[in-house]
Amino acid sequence: MTTVPSTPTSDGLAGLSGLGGAPAGLPDVTLLAQLAGEFFAALPSGSHDARLPFGAPPQPPQTELALANRAPAIAPAPARPAAAPDEAVDAATGTGRAANPVYGVPEAYAAALPRVESPEPPRGPSAPSSPYYFLGEASAYPSAASTASPAPSALPSHKDASPDVPEDRVTARSFGLPGDADLRALLAGLGDGRREPQAPPSPSAPAFYFLAPSHEEAAPAIGQSPRPAFDVQAVRRDFPILQERVNGRPLIWFDNAATTQKPQAVIDRLAYFYQHENSNIHRAAHELAARATDAYAGARNKVARFLGAAQTEEIIFVRGTTEGINLIAKTWGAQNVGEGDEIIVSHLEHHANIVPWQQLAAAKGAKIKVIPVDDSGQVRLDEYRKLLTSRTKLVSITQVSNALGTVVPVKEIVAEAHRFGAVAVVDGAQSVSHMRVNVQDIDADFFVFSGHKIFGPTGIGVVYGKRDILEAMPPWQGGGNMIADVTFEKTVYHGAPTRFEAGTGNIADAVGLGAALDYVERIGLENIARYEHDLLVYATRGLLTVPGLKLIGTAQDKASVLSFVLEGYRPEEVGKALNEEGIAVRSGHHCAQPILRRFGQEATVRPSLAFYNTCEEVDTLVAVLKRLAGNTGRNAR
Ligand code: PMP
Repeated sequence: MTTVPSTPTSDGLAGLSGLGGAPAGLPDVTLLAQLAGEFFAALPSGSHDARLPFGAPPQPPQTELALANRAPAIAPAPARPAAAPDEAVDAATGTGRAANPVYGVPEAYAAALPRVESPEPPRGPSAPSSPYYFLGEASAYPSAASTASPAPSALPSHKDASPDVPEDRVTARSFGLPGDADLRALLAGLGDGRREPQAPPSPSAPAFYFLAPSHEEAAPAIGQSPRPAFDVQAVRRDFPILQERVNGRPLIWFDNAATTQKPQAVIDRLAYFYQHENSNIHRAAHELAARATDAYAGARNKVARFLGAAQTEEIIFVRGTTEGINLIAKTWGAQNVGEGDEIIVSHLEHHANIVPWQQLAAAKGAKIKVIPVDDSGQVRLDEYRKLLTSRTKLVSITQVSNALGTVVPVKEIVAEAHRFGAVAVVDGAQSVSHMRVNVQDIDADFFVFSGHKIFGPTGIGVVYGKRDILEAMPPWQGGGNMIADVTFEKTVYHGAPTRFEAGTGNIADAVGLGAALDYVERIGLENIARYEHDLLVYATRGLLTVPGLKLIGTAQDKASVLSFVLEGYRPEEVGKALNEEGIAVRSGHHCAQPILRRFGQEATVRPSLAFYNTCEEVDTLVAVLKRLAGNTGRNAR
């Protein structure tokens, strides 16, 4: 059933070709431009110039910036500052849609409208002239072996990228930090998550791996080979919501483990789908059906390639990780787990990777076994090996803990499961946005993730399953789309993946997820992982200087998450105090009660990082926490 798309890009644009001049029925273009200009000029300004330092006083409304990334700059306007966010230049490639400032209007038509001159934006080698820059999805599925990320050289180099970045901008740059060793040194022996207060990281003296370009030559050569630049400010300009103000402060989004923010490319892709492609997916029905079908199939291709799957048919679209695990439990589980069989999960699991297995075990008379963790929050492989028996039918394990940030050695866990003939499920909800995942390398039988945790839309997620396993599984929901033939006597089902996608799927959001994966691939998972690791080290170091703060989860391999409790405060009080400063963190049990209780907690405060976060934001977090910690006059409980 799955089709390799013809070129969705050209398909998508073909329908616009008829809009060459001023379309019939539209008012005179000059009048239209004037009206539009008045309309957009009247919109309130809520945006924050990402180039201003945090803590800078609020700027007077700037209509153009307020329109950033949303509205076409149609009316003549005062000369805009360099790199206004509506240039939407892709951070990784330097490409963008800036060539056509009349964004969202077909180009030939736009050409007739007054143009706003703007400085030449940063460009990569292939800056598209089309506003539909995000339609780079004519992605015929490559061979299974081809799972490599785009060459890091796609990133702008430190010197030639982002000419709009002021010379004195502190730009995130990593010089070959001894990363793992560094985190290990920080967390080693920190069983109780505490450390004596140390000198704080000073915002005025950037950490040695965050150097102003002009200091580059003087930089200590920490590693032998300098790493490519990571221009976090350029990345931030791709995320319009990061310009929001909350409680009068610039938003600091440290709730990435709950959900991630969306780059303009994803927002635009969704709008484009509804503007030009929206239809149910029955390729042969009509033109829009063909476009929607191609876009949906293209998204499936992208997911398959992103995960390193052997075949596109191994990718099932679902609502998210929760629905994905339920699908596996209610299909493969119902078919293969029986009385007296055993299911193994770890102590780290999110409720989504506990409850469906409990329900299955209760229905079948099976047993749940739990891999314990050590005091750092890492799973104990020695204990895991003891749990495996000939009755073990399934092992389901998270790759990164959402509550502690522990990176779990899933490859070893899968291999051990296979030695006992068990099927292995990996919950990738917290891993895919932070590290390169290759399902064939892990050898997972199933791998599940949610689009919204990787800069894509909510309501879309993925189950990867090995083809032979999927083909042997019964469907779980019945209805349209998943059938080959229906009579009142019997139904013949399609094969995978459509057999598992009954009814009309979340077509637009699947397409949006494809755009999100394109976005992270353009930046490069390896670059993201490296930058985030350095930021995690920086944040860990900072938090450990806060008196009375105890880290929960000190495994040597961690990603993104910094769970903690602060003496004298309930986690929700800390969350509230941070919110007052515009800092969004999660406080609560994070849908992972068993692991928090393992550490004697019912709740923690959980900042969680993404690659658009900065050292300056971490400094702000640490400063607020220190103020709280030093608030001795307060009676917290
Ligand atoms: N597993 C893990 C590790 C998670 O972090 C989450 C989301 N917090 C889930 C599963 C469930 O994901 P969703 O709510 O998107 O279905």
